[in-house]
This record gives sequence, C-alpha cells and structure tokens, in this order.
Amino acid sequence: MKVLLASRNAKKLAEMRRILAPHLADVEVLGLDDVPGYDEPVEDQPTFAGNALLKARAALAATGLPSVADDSGLCVDALNGMPGVLSARWSGRPKSDERNNALLLDQLQDVPDDRRGAHFTCVIAFCAPALPGGHGHEVVVEGRMDGRVIRETRGSGGFGYDVLFCAEEFPDLTTAELHPADKDAISHRGRALREIAPQIAGALSR
Ligand code: IMP
Repeated sequence: MKVLLASRNAKKLAEMRRILAPHLADVEVLGLDDVPGYDEPVEDQPTFAGNALLKARAALAATGLPSVADDSGLCVDALNGMPGVLSARWSGRPKSDERNNALLLDQLQDVPDDRRGAHFTCVIAFCAPALPGGHGHEVVVEGRMDGRVIRETRGSGGFGYDVLFCAEEFPDLTTAELHPADKDAISHRGRALREIAPQIAGALSR
C-alpha cells in the first residue's frame, strides 16, 4: 500500500510523515520527489480547503496514487485573518520564511501585547482513486492552533512562522522552541492529520 504526500516543503513533509507514521503501519509514504514530476497546480483558491483539494486532486490525477495534501497558514487577528492563504508568499516571491517573518513583525510593531492573538489553520485533503464501478473518495478535515505573535524571533525548530508564534498551551515558548512531539500534540497539522488518519487507513485497505 502506498500514499503520496503532495508537498514540496521538506520541513512540512517531515512533520506530516512523523505524525502519520504511527497510524499507517505497512503503508509506504511517498513524497513528490519519489514520483515522476507533473504540472503542479497554482494555489490560487481563496480558501485553505480549496487549495488543499486542488493539490490532492492533481497528485491523484497525475500519479494514480491515493494522495494527501496540506494547505495551511497563520491568521492574525490584528490583520483581519491575514496572511491566511497567502502565508507562504506574504512578502512576495521567491518565497522566504525570513522575509515573511520580518514583514509580519514590522506590520505588528504598533500592535499592543493584548491584541496580538493569532491562530494557525491546517486543512488536509485526501483523494483516493475510484474502485472499479465506484466513485473516488475525498475527505477534507481542518485543524487549528491558537496563540499569539511575539515581538522577536526565537528558536530553531519547525519552519515558517514558528519562530514568532507562542501557542496557548506553551505561552512562554515559541513553536520553534518546542520539542517536535510537543508541537505535534497541539498543532493544527497534528490535529487535522490525527483526525483524518483512520479514514486514510480505511480507504487504503478497501
Ligand atoms: P502552503 O505550503 O501553501 O500550505 O503554505 C503554508 C505556509 O504557512 C508556510 O510556508 C508557513 O509560512 C506557514 N505555516 C503553515 N504551517 C506552519 C507551521 O506549522 N509553522 C509555521 N508556519 C507554518
């Protein structure tokens, strides 16, 4: 049994593999580097779910493999939920976590501590091929991690905005300072993947 994780973000892929591993025994988990290249879709949808489905459907169509895609981002209260679906390219192209973090800190410079609330959202889409004479199978789930944006970057773990985000469960540490297992236990990605894992396992064993 094989499943394809349709992401090019190596650190996100590592988190997805780590979280799914205990739930998918005997399943070979592939990344995009393990399959022949194909035209990957432009993430032009206005919602996380729209983009996650776009990526999972394209991966299934190109490879025939059951495919999982993540679309995620940071939603900042003081910015009316932005950067949201634009998180990866908030400071423009080429994508740069460092420039994204610098821009966000700059934008929030005058925002007082009690108005720096934010949350990460992760939508996971899973698309499996149709059985003979049947329909394909699509599932979409969402996970969330609440917290706040601090005033400086701290830590070296994780990726993206982890260096400036403290989750409610660990208010004194950024998610880049957490042990990976602690981040997975509370993260938007951990919550969504643990919810969808039994459905992936069930579909793979049909
Ligand atoms: P995507 O690959 O288009 O889904 O972009 C997701 C972007 O959201 C990443 O490039 C990060 O900037 C941000 N992001 C999503 N999840 C996390 C996380 O767990 N930690 C830090 N940043 C994240």
